[in-house]
Amino acid sequence: MTKELKLYNSLSAEKEVFKPIHSNYVGMYVCGPTVYSDVHLGNCRTFISFDMIYRYLIHLGYKVRYVRNITDAGHLVDDADEGEDKIVKKARLEQVEPMEIVQKYTVGFHDILRNFNAIPPNIEPTATGHIQEQINIIEKIISQGLAYEVNGSVYFNVDKYNETADYGILSKRKIEDLMSGTRELDGQSEKKSPLDFALWKKASPEHIMRWNSPWSDGFPGWHIECTAMSTKYLGESFDIHGGGMDLKFPHHECEIAQAQAFTGKPPVKYWLHANLLTLNGKKMSKSTGNTLLPDELFSGDTPLLEKGFDPMVVRFFMMQAHYRSVLDFSYDALLASEKGYHKLMTAYKDLDKLKVSEESSEEVSKHIAAYYSAMNDDFNTPILIANLFDTVSWINKVKVGQATISKADLIELKKELDAFITGVLGLTGGQAENNDGANKMDAVMEVIIELRKNARENKDWTSSDLIRDSLTAAGISIKDTKEGTSWSLN
Ligand code: AMP
Ligand code: ZN
Repeated sequence: MTKELKLYNSLSAEKEVFKPIHSNYVGMYVCGPTVYSDVHLGNCRTFISFDMIYRYLIHLGYKVRYVRNITDAGHLVDDADEGEDKIVKKARLEQVEPMEIVQKYTVGFHDILRNFNAIPPNIEPTATGHIQEQINIIEKIISQGLAYEVNGSVYFNVDKYNETADYGILSKRKIEDLMSGTRELDGQSEKKSPLDFALWKKASPEHIMRWNSPWSDGFPGWHIECTAMSTKYLGESFDIHGGGMDLKFPHHECEIAQAQAFTGKPPVKYWLHANLLTLNGKKMSKSTGNTLLPDELFSGDTPLLEKGFDPMVVRFFMMQAHYRSVLDFSYDALLASEKGYHKLMTAYKDLDKLKVSEESSEEVSKHIAAYYSAMNDDFNTPILIANLFDTVSWINKVKVGQATISKADLIELKKELDAFITGVLGLTGGQAENNDGANKMDAVMEVIIELRKNARENKDWTSSDLIRDSLTAAGISIKDTKEGTSWSLN
């Protein structure tokens, strides 16, 4: 099977053949959440996209070290260089310790991602656990002449860096355009240029999250934590760095500049960005309140929905869009995904009921090759899902005797469907997990259908109607055809 994976690198703005720096080992870093409130569905989309990418790399046989940080300090309100830390602000409002906020929302984040069947990263470092590493990097950048200290704070000197490097290399922005888009410094600012960004900030007396440093009692800037944690666990140059599209600038642009100033090399080979989830056509965002929380979606407890949805249906809905496309959330789209998910899972379960024949056909290998070609084309999950539905149609043909499958092909197909549906797409509730429950359900329904048949034969219409109406009320419909009675979940 072809192993040539192509992925879209935001740095070159092209699809490139994936070649890890160290043969079969892949280092992958994904910017994690700032743990000051519940993650919303938009945040989840980004983390689920990278979960799918991680799963496919593993499926291809790579040994992946997946690092995703927790931002528990240094991220100021409005992503600014001045003002209050998001976590400190929340702690002040709730009158608790900042670390209580961090603990509460880290636990919540893990719970939500577990619901979505996301695999935890191999390392989940925190910014506060890596203050010394951040200080060491800042010292080195100062010694290279690329950062300066003012009144106990340290800023990265973008102009100086840009003399020999390219600030804007990732976001494709020109420094002149960036300059004209910023307001003049008002004379109050400590920065030499409005583009300079904080590496270390001196803490004001009320700022309670503070650490000792060579420059002041203070705290690190937001961008530097990711440089410290990624280089510590993945090395000075590593394979994949990911995050949501909105992190490309300034966060990732600043990461490149800092790391390059620190080590003299580009830190990342492939930059991957997952696109945004929108609600009512606008970015889902905590700050604007245009959000939907996963728990609201599961319970249906929101005016946006008439009912709740299984987390696996939501995951399937996300996988139906390419990770680089904007995805708009809507109730109708989720209803359609729910149908699609059940159709796929039912066919997947029904594999066990297929009758095998002596003849093999080319068909199975064609289907499997199509799964790989979709995923090798920059993790194209919507095409993969379309290909899986082609397989579903074909399975249905085998069921009614219009096509044949050999035993060996059936074993192969099951293995690959298991790998792609459960392994790569991360969808549970199918063959592997629910077989036992599904088999029991089948057996119970067989008995009920038999009882109804007997009642009808005895002209006991009261019983036969009671059976059908009770099943309908439970969301199960039955259909009488020439071949017999079948049932399905509504
Ligand atoms: P934050 O906690 O705000 O730093 O965000 C955590 C992750 O979620 C980052 O990778 C963001 O880019 C991503 N993110 C934020 N809003 C959205 C959205 N509406 N859709 C998809 N990803 C998002
Ligand atoms: Zn980051």
